[in-house]
Amino acid sequence: MYDYLIVGAGLFGSTFARIATDKGDKCLVIEKENHVAGNCYTEERDGIHIHTYGPHIFHCNKPEIWSFVNRFADFKPFINSPIAINNDKAYSLPFNMYTFYQMWGVTTPHQAEQIINQQKLILHREPKNLEEQALCLVGKDIYELLIKGYTKKQWGKDPSELPASIIKRLPLRFTWNNNYYNSQYQGIPANGYTSFFENLLENIELKKNVDYLRERKALDKLAKNIIYTGKIDEFFDYRFGTLEYRGLKFEHEVINRANYQGNAVVNYPNLNVSYTRVIEHKHFQGDKKISPITHISREYPDNWDKSKIAYYPIETQENRTLWRKYFQFATETEPKVIFGGRLAEFRYYDMHQVIASAFTAYTKTYESKLFAMGK
Ligand code: FAD
Repeated sequence: MYDYLIVGAGLFGSTFARIATDKGDKCLVIEKENHVAGNCYTEERDGIHIHTYGPHIFHCNKPEIWSFVNRFADFKPFINSPIAINNDKAYSLPFNMYTFYQMWGVTTPHQAEQIINQQKLILHREPKNLEEQALCLVGKDIYELLIKGYTKKQWGKDPSELPASIIKRLPLRFTWNNNYYNSQYQGIPANGYTSFFENLLENIELKKNVDYLRERKALDKLAKNIIYTGKIDEFFDYRFGTLEYRGLKFEHEVINRANYQGNAVVNYPNLNVSYTRVIEHKHFQGDKKISPITHISREYPDNWDKSKIAYYPIETQENRTLWRKYFQFATETEPKVIFGGRLAEFRYYDMHQVIASAFTAYTKTYESKLFAMGK
């Protein structure tokens, strides 16, 4: 009998399995794919770690999370400084003094603030849609050049048809600072994410190519508790309806040149270009000389249906209400199961947030175990 059957060898499942195993619990991890690491998976080709399901930069501010991940990989420093290209002009991201200089030629925060304040939409009511929300926050030029087309491609709808709640804030930095995450700790595992996950799962029993939902009856008998990191609506056979996601498609290409775009991430906000961004994977490793050729991926947003990979949860009010209904039902009917991670919690989580969520989930089960034992 296992203490925990862990469904999914992504970041939540693998972190939970590690903490529980370190505390002496017996764990079995099952994964429906033929590889570990979930969305963070990387494959090595020509010495380059390809981020198969999209670019992943680890960042956090909590020393305990940073020291946890550093147990399983040597993290190479990496600062994410994406750029956006629109009509052959390059702009720095996130919006900061470099962007304002590139857009208007201004060199002081005061000049930039004056232009933005002149352009901001002033409403005496709540913004009704994403377009209004963005215009209220950043003004016309930034919205038209860097947000409008990108958002339309990303969500497949005009920003005027999207809820304002999708963008709660759009940070404007009045400093010369291109460091996208601005987190205290940032880096990329030197040997790729897959190797990081293999170390995280070392000496833990793992079965790949096993879909929990297909073999549920037999699997449930194996463990006292279940950690489920798949889609919560799928767990309940979509009985209350389907939670919505945005999909992605990646077009990978090998280019016979050492350096293709000079940066790891380049965004294309213009509607004339059908992809949203191009990733040049070798730049995550910081060394252009790793290989005389380079690997790039063009990222295209895609409509999602149940047969496709669920990438981004669409966190509208309706979807959150539906998720709450599932979660409430889970609490009432599935006392043995803990639902965690971006799919089960239906959250647009970054990696450090998933780790924090797994830490909390383990602490809760540990405390309730002690409570049940009368300690
Ligand atoms: P997942 O990685 O989805 O893992 C869930 C696992 O469960 C999967 O392996 C799945 O196959 C398995 N599973 C599901 N159902 C079953 C079943 N029935 N039986 C067996 N196995 C099952 N975060 C950052 O911090 N920095 C970034 O730069 C960043 N970039 C991102 C870019 C993109 C394009 C995307 C989509 C996400 C990005 N993230 C980033 C977020 C990051 O990917 C997630 O926070 C993290 O991968 C979530 O881990 P998870 O374990 O919750 O989910």
